[in-house]
Amino acid sequence: MSKGGNSLSAVKEKAAADMVIRNAAQLITCKADTKDPPGLIENGWLAVKGERIEAVGTQAEVLEAVDCSRAVVLDACGKTVVPGFVDSHTHLVFGGSRVREYVARLTVDNPETIREMGIKTGLPATVEMTRAESEETIFEASARKLKRMLCCGTTTVESKSGYGLDLENELKQLRVSKRLDQVLPVDVVPTFLGAHGWPSEMPKQKYLSLLLQEMIPEVGRLKLAKFCDVWCDEGYYTAAESEKILLAARAAGMEPKIHTDAYSYIGGSDLAADLRMVSADHLNYTPASVMKKLAEAKVPGVLLPGTDFSVNHPKPFNPKPMLESGMTIALATNCNPGNWTESMQFVMMLACRRHRMTPAESLKAATSGGAAALGLDHDRGSLEAGKLADIQIWDTPVYEEVVYRLGGNIVDIVIKRGRVVVENGRLAEQSSR
Ligand SMILES: [Zn+2]
Repeated sequence: MSKGGNSLSAVKEKAAADMVIRNAAQLITCKADTKDPPGLIENGWLAVKGERIEAVGTQAEVLEAVDCSRAVVLDACGKTVVPGFVDSHTHLVFGGSRVREYVARLTVDNPETIREMGIKTGLPATVEMTRAESEETIFEASARKLKRMLCCGTTTVESKSGYGLDLENELKQLRVSKRLDQVLPVDVVPTFLGAHGWPSEMPKQKYLSLLLQEMIPEVGRLKLAKFCDVWCDEGYYTAAESEKILLAARAAGMEPKIHTDAYSYIGGSDLAADLRMVSADHLNYTPASVMKKLAEAKVPGVLLPGTDFSVNHPKPFNPKPMLESGMTIALATNCNPGNWTESMQFVMMLACRRHRMTPAESLKAATSGGAAALGLDHDRGSLEAGKLADIQIWDTPVYEEVVYRLGGNIVDIVIKRGRVVVENGRLAEQSSR
């Protein structure tokens, strides 16, 4: 009694887990401070309470920390346990399809020739289709994409507007993102990308004023976006224009992100470092000196192998100097009508084979790196006590198989916020929230 009275913590009952994953051939934590392989635990155990992870480690460590006697047991014998993917750059809410353009581009190099074939191309084509479709139609199509992403292991998705290019249609896209977040068991993080370009019906400067004076304040007032993004590149917005847009967005309550250095270097990545943006994305033409600036400013770089692959990019991004400079890097699908990729596994395959990343680097970039690029690394992206129980179980004993089984889906189970939402690679019943 005398001892128990002054060491309450010692006699405090252990937390009771709701779910325990046991016997994983490999459990990869993807913790930020781990090196290759990123936090590998053999015969790993993990306990979940509510929507959060309660303990991770060996059998002895988990049973010591948590009471697992009443928990639902998932046996992961012969399987790999990793964090849910965080896809930190997508444009998944759009109208129509540009399959005819994609097919034509496979064999025709000149865009003019493609237009002469009567095929509408690029951003203007998708803006036209997105404006023409109803909110309901776009929602249904986007929900189907998001469900496939979930079945491929993605548990958090960033979703940009940018195919409306007027207030009404930008808001339509943002409302779809909000509804997707509410009805499906994936967290959808909305980004306003009104500065994806400008509409064909008005000159750039006129649209820029509209963005600054009407669209950004209204999106901010409605709280429909967490971030604001801009396309800063030759032929798009200059670094000075991007700065104006992003400072206005910050004043309206949205933190800045940037598409930059994809086809030229005009100062967008410097701006990302100067404004300490949430992320700088693409980075094909970023000089080594600016990589250092991004690392020092703690701005993650979001790399998009699916884009470089689908456009057959003349200068694929190079992750090596970025990693050497100390930058945090994220991999993302950039799912959009010109680069229709829903699978983070496919993105990892490309990152390894075409951009010379190791499987460990690519897994970390697809999980904890993605979380950092959304400012959510305190909460998800790695398997650690206290973080969200966003977990994948892969039907393979070795994590490297994810980049080896080309074009496949090795996901067996997905757990989102402590709930099994995918089983046998398929959406579980009652998968809406
Ligand atoms: Zn993009």
